[in-house]
Amino acid sequence: MSANPVQPGAQAFDTRAIQQLDSAHYLHPFTDFKDLNSKGARVIVRGQGIYLWDSEGEKILDGMSGLWCVNVGYGRTSISEAVYRQMETLPFYNSFFNTTNVPATRLAAKLVEISPPQFNHVFYTGSGSEGNDTNLRMVRRYWDLMGFKERHTIISRHNAYHGSTVAGASLGGMDGMHAQGGLPIPGIVHIGQPNYFESGRGMTEAEFGIEAAGWLEAKILELGPEKVAAFIGEPVQGAGGVIIPPATYWPEIQRICDKYGILLIADEVICGFGRLGAWFGSELLGIKPDLITFAKGVSSGYIPLGGVLVGDRIADVLIGQGGDFNHGFTYSGHPVACAAALENIRIIEDEQLVKQVANVTGPYLRRKFASLRDHPLVGYADSYGFVAGLNLVRKKAEVVHDCELFTPELAVGMICRGHMFNNGMIMRAVGDRMIIAPPLVMTKAEIDEMVNKIRYCLDKTLADLQ
Ligand code: PLP
Repeated sequence: MSANPVQPGAQAFDTRAIQQLDSAHYLHPFTDFKDLNSKGARVIVRGQGIYLWDSEGEKILDGMSGLWCVNVGYGRTSISEAVYRQMETLPFYNSFFNTTNVPATRLAAKLVEISPPQFNHVFYTGSGSEGNDTNLRMVRRYWDLMGFKERHTIISRHNAYHGSTVAGASLGGMDGMHAQGGLPIPGIVHIGQPNYFESGRGMTEAEFGIEAAGWLEAKILELGPEKVAAFIGEPVQGAGGVIIPPATYWPEIQRICDKYGILLIADEVICGFGRLGAWFGSELLGIKPDLITFAKGVSSGYIPLGGVLVGDRIADVLIGQGGDFNHGFTYSGHPVACAAALENIRIIEDEQLVKQVANVTGPYLRRKFASLRDHPLVGYADSYGFVAGLNLVRKKAEVVHDCELFTPELAVGMICRGHMFNNGMIMRAVGDRMIIAPPLVMTKAEIDEMVNKIRYCLDKTLADLQ
């Protein structure tokens, strides 16, 4: 039996035995089950700060904050204590039938306090996907109440990620997800993404931003503005590969939405709670959304929680017109999850993590990450706050669009990810784009350590290819 670096008092276990049980019984999300069963899963047993440990004692620098969510880092005992206290007091009660609970109410007020001024209401869910399901139903309900029953179509973008429920995956623009289960559902259409590296040839970034936003107007005109309910987008696309839009993109999207009276939904499941250097990314990107989806960073992933910030334009109609909104979840406003979120937000405020990312560690990460551009494999590298990505290319070029790419069959991103995995670093591969979203508590010294690890693994990848 290997010595697991678990907390004192925790039960030790044999890694191989856990892997066998895992293979026998656990179907993992977004996983090739057969492939995983042939290898066995890595067993993660502990986290502290920005580091994780696996059952073999390997220390791993978590460049992805779990799954873009552990904003305050691992091992925050004050969150576990808040959770424990709430569990002892009231582990659960629902918010249906005109009841409420103290943490859910306090958290709603706190979220309103830290969100842009048009937001005064919150609808809770258990996840980001459910938040986007809520958006779909809420915007359609809004337009029905307004007397525009035709206005049901939602426009999203190819390669967007909005979750894994039927509505979330339909709103998302992932081909691999649409190919399974007959998605997207009717009433959801997609336009191109503002991916400068992929599609901006012959244009400046600023020109490309306007061009890409124009695809929205073209789609609205094709469908007929009277049919379009809303546009949904992540301020910076996360799972699609950290696609940072040109600065001109979002203000132009806002202008187009305003022109046709279309609702704007910002999916801030990743971008919220300090990730880009503001409480919400919308504040930085020049938009005034009607709905904001949140999850992940709201509780730093310690307990599942999600929801939707509902802007006054919609809330005034939903509340003013009366009648049930026939939607909700058993765990909407779960008292324990809300208690965890309140403590998580207190930490973010106390440690001034949003300001740190905006003014200190975010700019430092940008500089250090940009220094990787001199590596022979790196054709393009960019970052925003605490998300960053780099494109692995066969041959670099002065103009990024002239870079020579690897053929997808080579799976160079996966080779690179393998080196990260074997060298105590978590960095994700989306095709040949390598991405990070580290915990917001990461210090300058830890950024140095991370960037050194990345460079080392880029070197190993290059050596494999020669
Ligand atoms: N929206 C965005 C932008 C996301 O990145 C995610 C998850 O990664 C979701 C929605 C779905 O959230 P969840 O996995 O909590 O359902």
